[in-house]
Amino acid sequence: TYEQDLIGARQFIEQHDDFLVVAHVQPDGDAVSSTLAVGWLLSRLGKTFTMINEGPIPQRMTYMEGSEQILDMSLTERTRTYSNIICVDCADFKRVGLVSEWMEKEANLLNIDHHPTNDEYGTQTLIKADAAATAEILYDLLASFDLGWDRHVAEMLYTGILTDTGGFRYSSTSPKVMQIASHLLELGVNGPDLADLLLEQLTKPQFDVLTLALATLQMSENGKVAWVHVTPEHMVQAGASNEDLEGIVNYPRNIQGVEVGVLFKVINENAVKASMRSAGKVDVAAIAAEFGGGGHVRAAGCRLEGTLEQVTALVIERIKQSL
Ligand code: 5GP
Ligand code: MN
Ligand code: MN
Repeated sequence: TYEQDLIGARQFIEQHDDFLVVAHVQPDGDAVSSTLAVGWLLSRLGKTFTMINEGPIPQRMTYMEGSEQILDMSLTERTRTYSNIICVDCADFKRVGLVSEWMEKEANLLNIDHHPTNDEYGTQTLIKADAAATAEILYDLLASFDLGWDRHVAEMLYTGILTDTGGFRYSSTSPKVMQIASHLLELGVNGPDLADLLLEQLTKPQFDVLTLALATLQMSENGKVAWVHVTPEHMVQAGASNEDLEGIVNYPRNIQGVEVGVLFKVINENAVKASMRSAGKVDVAAIAAEFGGGGHVRAAGCRLEGTLEQVTALVIERIKQSL
């Protein structure tokens, strides 16, 4: 049960030291905040640890305490490997990306996650598929240690929950989520400022790449599937980076009558990343899993080989079958 796994996770942390803490590649708000909240816990416990990600932390998340301590693996020379690992917000082990090179083959690994497609990798799991965010699970884990709270860790946990619930709007926004958020606000989190920073503000490159993407809109004849794409040329033209694409997929999904919205991001001549969002009737996690990806019922992604035209035809056809 979840309660047993909370105890198991707590024992894993108490019984080991010298941890590597990692979240998924191209980290979102939940990934960054979960990494930092685990780091906060380990510091409080007097444990040594290294926080790392395959790439950089998005600039707009650097307000969180300790964010500068998360190593950008692409800029860091590896001098050692780790045998005690904590993975957060990663549905499968591949989601840590190249950070796996920093791990021993037979490492002890604690897998903390909320994706229904989590494949239970690792030597200890703490998975709650109906948690709104990995940060919600970490709230429970931190509570079980009874170390008290401070505004910094409250800000981390609030960030993960705020971003993964789309601002407390998705169906994962349970009464418990609101109770946790209430406690975090009492601890001094500035909710409106974080909502503005993380959910409303766009950088100019974000605005420009959004404009280019929206101009590519296509829809199925019955109006139930809508999709846009972004090419490497768009990225250059807008001066955009991958993190600037977050949220674009919601626009096609938001068109009235659309059941599934998709963003196709061309990675190179023979690879395309598909991000899918469902209005609720179609389980996009199941579709993504068929293509080697995963995610949640209403938000999932996968990476496919092929040209934009090939991948688009394949994925749209598969979605139409689910309608
Ligand atoms: P996004 O479309 O925003 O990249 O991702 C939506 C959801 O799908 C997230 O919960 C993310 O963790 C999951 N996801 C996206 N891409 C992949 C992938 O390649 N593999 C897996 N397992 N999950 C993915
Ligand atoms: Mn995530
Ligand atoms: Mn998450």
